[in-house]
Amino acid sequence: MNEYRLCVMPGDGIGPEIMKEGIKALKVVEARNDVRFHLMEAAFGAAAWFETGSCCPDETWAMCDRADAIIKGTVGLSLEESRKIPVDEQPERSALLPMRRRYDTFANFRPVYLPRAFNHFSPLKPEVVGDGIDIMIIRELVGGIYFGEKETGINDEGLRYAREVLDYDERLIKRTVDVAFETATKRRRKLHNINKSNVLKSSILWTDIVMETARDFPDVEVHHMLVDAAATALCLNPGQFDVMVMENMFGDILSDQAGGILGSLGLMPSACLGPEKAYYEPSHGSAPDIAGKNVANPYSMIGSFAMMLDMSFGMREEADNLWKAMESVFAAGYSTGDLSRPGGGIRIVGTEEFGDRVADALDRTGDS
Ligand code: NAD
Repeated sequence: MNEYRLCVMPGDGIGPEIMKEGIKALKVVEARNDVRFHLMEAAFGAAAWFETGSCCPDETWAMCDRADAIIKGTVGLSLEESRKIPVDEQPERSALLPMRRRYDTFANFRPVYLPRAFNHFSPLKPEVVGDGIDIMIIRELVGGIYFGEKETGINDEGLRYAREVLDYDERLIKRTVDVAFETATKRRRKLHNINKSNVLKSSILWTDIVMETARDFPDVEVHHMLVDAAATALCLNPGQFDVMVMENMFGDILSDQAGGILGSLGLMPSACLGPEKAYYEPSHGSAPDIAGKNVANPYSMIGSFAMMLDMSFGMREEADNLWKAMESVFAAGYSTGDLSRPGGGIRIVGTEEFGDRVADALDRTGDS
């Protein structure tokens, strides 16, 4: 039997609710396969700060270090609540970014997927969505302006100022670009390099490296697109994209827009891979506006579990079964309310019921 240690970090807001549904699915995976997951629950995020004075206490780091993979819910609070925590101790700055840096999880995979059968979830017209949406956003996750030097103060004119540096070197760029090309070769062999090389020198370097790397992947069709144009293109013709690669902040913003064209951020799981450790999380935040109401869509979290099964534990087939189980719940007409559109005919269910239905569907997989 294969045994794995998982560090489980439910986090803030809707994190604990959707994590529960992911673990429900994982229990079914265990029952169907010769595998055991030993779960270590760890405090992480704003709730941890209020409890322990740290968004990532030492015990959490120790558990993450020991884990074979880390599965994270969501962190963060509303703007007003966040202000109760000193700026440098807030969850993203004191826990999330340090985790990315500690495990060097540079390659962030954000699948943007809507099969044709679920075109009605999208706010875009059916003729725009066409045959459905199937994009893989590869976001560089440990460089750029989020990790560059930061400085605030009062300048010579007596004005408050803030300065943040956007820093990349060719090693950081090259390894992400390599991942993007390799991913494209396993998909439809089309890569969009999303950049801002008309303004940013970092984007010129990025694009040079894409062009150099392209020579090693002659069967991949490469397109260069400015990030602002890409934002429009995602809405007008999402079908043109297969793999999109971009630097950290562009990826943060554009992947949320991608969630928008699917119909909800609740459809956005993700995997963050480093050389030795990976962690998995929904792409979205803690959704304080809906937390505790049993309305959050757990697809993003359950999908993150599916990505973990595939990418960390080589359980490709069972990961596919889990994706199909979620699709079968949608196909039966059920969804959480975020995907409900006027005239869509969706039967709205809560977070828990959606998770129950996915677990049941997975459990029945293979029954004749
Ligand atoms: P958000 O992503 O939490 O929510 C944006 C909108 O999407 C909200 O209306 C929310 O209800 C909806 N939404 C998000 N996930 C959903 C789901 N699973 N099902 C249904 N609807 C869903 O963005 P925000 O409100 O700007 O940020 C809230 C907090 O999350 C902030 O503190 C922010 O810093 C943090 N954040 C954390 C992460 C992370 O943990 N990696 C990422 C982004 C934002």
